[in-house]
Amino acid sequence: MTYQSFHQKYRPQTFAELVGQNAIAQILTHAIEQSRIAPAYLFCGSRGTGKTSSARILAKSLNCLQADRPTPNPCGVCEACQAISQGNALDVIEIDAASNTGVENVRNLIERAQFAPVQLRMKIFVLDEAHMLSTSATSALLKTLEEPPEQVVFILATTEPHNLLPTIVSRCQRYDFRRIKLEPMVKHLATIANQEQLTIDDSALNLISRLSQGGLRDAETLLEQLSLFGSTITTEQIWESVGAVPDEHLVDWAESLLLPQVSSTETLLVQMQQLFQQGQEPIAIVQGLLRLLKDLQIAQTLPHSPKLSSVMPEIWQRLTNMNSINCIRLAEVRSQLRQAEFQLCQTSQPTLFLECLILDLIAIPALGAPAQINHSLLDLTTTWQQTLNQLSVNHRPIFRQAQLVQCSSKGATIRFRAASFLNLATNYQSEIEQALSQVLAYHVPVQLCT
Ligand SMILES: [Zn+2]
Repeated sequence: MTYQSFHQKYRPQTFAELVGQNAIAQILTHAIEQSRIAPAYLFCGSRGTGKTSSARILAKSLNCLQADRPTPNPCGVCEACQAISQGNALDVIEIDAASNTGVENVRNLIERAQFAPVQLRMKIFVLDEAHMLSTSATSALLKTLEEPPEQVVFILATTEPHNLLPTIVSRCQRYDFRRIKLEPMVKHLATIANQEQLTIDDSALNLISRLSQGGLRDAETLLEQLSLFGSTITTEQIWESVGAVPDEHLVDWAESLLLPQVSSTETLLVQMQQLFQQGQEPIAIVQGLLRLLKDLQIAQTLPHSPKLSSVMPEIWQRLTNMNSINCIRLAEVRSQLRQAEFQLCQTSQPTLFLECLILDLIAIPALGAPAQINHSLLDLTTTWQQTLNQLSVNHRPIFRQAQLVQCSSKGATIRFRAASFLNLATNYQSEIEQALSQVLAYHVPVQLCT
């Protein structure tokens, strides 16, 4: 038997098996049960979310020989189901529009659409990456969709529905495939691991799912790649396999850079050397740090919203525990790293460049009041949230009715939604000034207004 990738081997065979797209599966199942089949479907969504799998399931549901009408439970073993699964059914025509963009190809396709199916009950055209069709090809398709031939179903799949002609979109029944959520993805990967007799714990499955960012195919491919290491899969292997720096190391680094009193410079430098020796690319380190610092900012501002970040629970815990982060220092480190991301691509000695940058960042102490700093919108929100956290619990509700609208080394402005809150707040002017100065690590005069 020919080798099948995990993605092919564990492709769902019915809508009930479709991973993480319950709403779509349910609607299509009902439609098939009631034989209400549209002449054209549009499946939108990012890659690896089940569009092609759904197209094949639909093709089988309409053609399974075990039933004399469309069935939501295609048998998977009859001649028609087998041919469709293997991709060699004469009446199921899959076209990758990315490589067949010419109008001639679509004309051929339309001509073929006029003939009755030769083998199956229904003829199915699957147009993958439909947005890639040229304008003339699209209008040729449009004509067919305006008067769809009987016994023909078009399934258009696209990652970019906004690039399709609205007239095409309006002739299709549209389904938006969401990125797969963590839970169903972990469950699906666990099933595969079990079938393949792989030893892999929950945190490793979780990590694969997070790294795949909702793309099931990416997750399956990564798991398959990891299975080549041997039957036991660890989180270290996963990080190594994706060429990224483990988050644990990145948190250590963030601590060294932002809380020098907590971690030692030596540890940081030793870790960096080790990563270089393992062949880790400096650019991957910088990008990893930038991502983690973004998560750190979220953790500091919204400690109860771990779902907004992409890190594992134990990493999130460490990020929320990093108290007394100076947000100016954080902004400074991020800005330096962002610049480094560009410069690293141009230098002939990226390793040396990164070492120097990290040493510089450690050497520069937390900034005092710099000559002129204007905070961006994001920094203002973070700063304000941290300032609120510094206030006594009784006074916090009053200041929640306000926003930090401007902040520089010369002074800050806090604007209230209503004069009544402003009046109350003036009693606590010194407290808010103190709280803000503490967050910024330098004294700043505060002006309250509406
Ligand atoms: Zn069948």
